[in-house]
Amino acid sequence: MSNYYLLFVNFKAILISNLGRVYELLDTPMGEEKAIRRCFSCNECIRARHFEDLPIRCSFNPTIGADKKFATIKKTKHKKKVMMVGAGPAGMEAARVAALRGHDVYLFDKENQIGGTLNIAAAVPGKDKLRWIVEYYAYTLPKLGVHIQLREFVEKQKIEAFGPDVVIIATGSELTMPQIPGMKNISGLSFKEVLKGEAKIEREKVVVLGGGLIGLETALFLASLGNYVTVLKRYETVSENIDPVYAPHLLSSLQKQGVKIISKVTVMEIEQNQVLIKNHSKSPS
Ligand SMILES: Cc1cc2nc3c(=O)[nH]c(=O)nc-3n(C[C@H](O)[C@H](O)[C@H](O)COP(=O)(O)OP(=O)(O)OC[C@H]3O[C@@H](n4cnc5c(N)ncnc54)[C@H](O)[C@@H]3O)c2cc1C
Ligand code: SF4
Repeated sequence: MSNYYLLFVNFKAILISNLGRVYELLDTPMGEEKAIRRCFSCNECIRARHFEDLPIRCSFNPTIGADKKFATIKKTKHKKKVMMVGAGPAGMEAARVAALRGHDVYLFDKENQIGGTLNIAAAVPGKDKLRWIVEYYAYTLPKLGVHIQLREFVEKQKIEAFGPDVVIIATGSELTMPQIPGMKNISGLSFKEVLKGEAKIEREKVVVLGGGLIGLETALFLASLGNYVTVLKRYETVSENIDPVYAPHLLSSLQKQGVKIISKVTVMEIEQNQVLIKNHSKSPS
């Protein structure tokens, strides 16, 4: 059989997954398919073109739509020891580019795997393609010579002892729990604990506080485990953070799973088995 790729691409991938990916396919030697960034259907390109009237962009391939100056990665004349702290998507991509530029790159993470919050987000029903991103870097970074150091919590002393020329901090965000009266007396869980499967919650009545992307997707995850889920959200509108193509699909999935969404409310107090809310809608309920 001659050397050719048999490509199974979906319609959107052909239209949107863009020229950058075609070059990537053509440049990729046989047997190196894992080095191809697969479109994971996030719709960021559609959002740019159709909703924001901006040049095309891709959340997985930052060179797409970028100025040629940024799209071309040049080798450095001044090789440096680069310490990258945090192996989420930000740290992984920064490590990739730094290694391509010829630097000596060390990527640290406190967890036992790379991927950061993507590993948690991929647990949401229908979002398993996020794992493709992690798989791509897990394959590519060692090939580029990036030294991956897992189970390493990095703090100031460790940085000083390691002696890098450059430190890049990509440690993501810290979760803050809201200060609601009564919160201390209940066993409230964060979305991270829920999506990581650290707490077994099945066939329970669950209230999710917050109706942004993470709140709604955590609600969907909980409902898929057979829980009876109610989401309390402050605003009536769908969060701007939710991709406008995906939002109707997410809302319809929540509806199918029987998730109740109560909008325009503020949580005033939490008691064992009770959540007291203030309703801001004009009509009495
Ligand atoms: C349910 C859910 C769904 C989501 N869906 C989407 C989506 O569809 N599309 C999208 O674009 N985004 C989505 N996101 C958001 C996305 O996951 C984050 O924006 C992204 O992961 C942030 O990347 P990051 O590299 O900045 O941080 P993170 O991914 O949080 O990575 C930070 C890393 O730093 C490590 N770290 C922290 N402190 C230290 C330390 N001191 N020493 C060593 N390591 C440390 C952590 O262990 C972690 O691995 C979703 C998030 C959630 C929770
Ligand atoms: S922005 Fe998202 S949907 Fe568009 S090509 Fe990139 S990965 Fe695929």
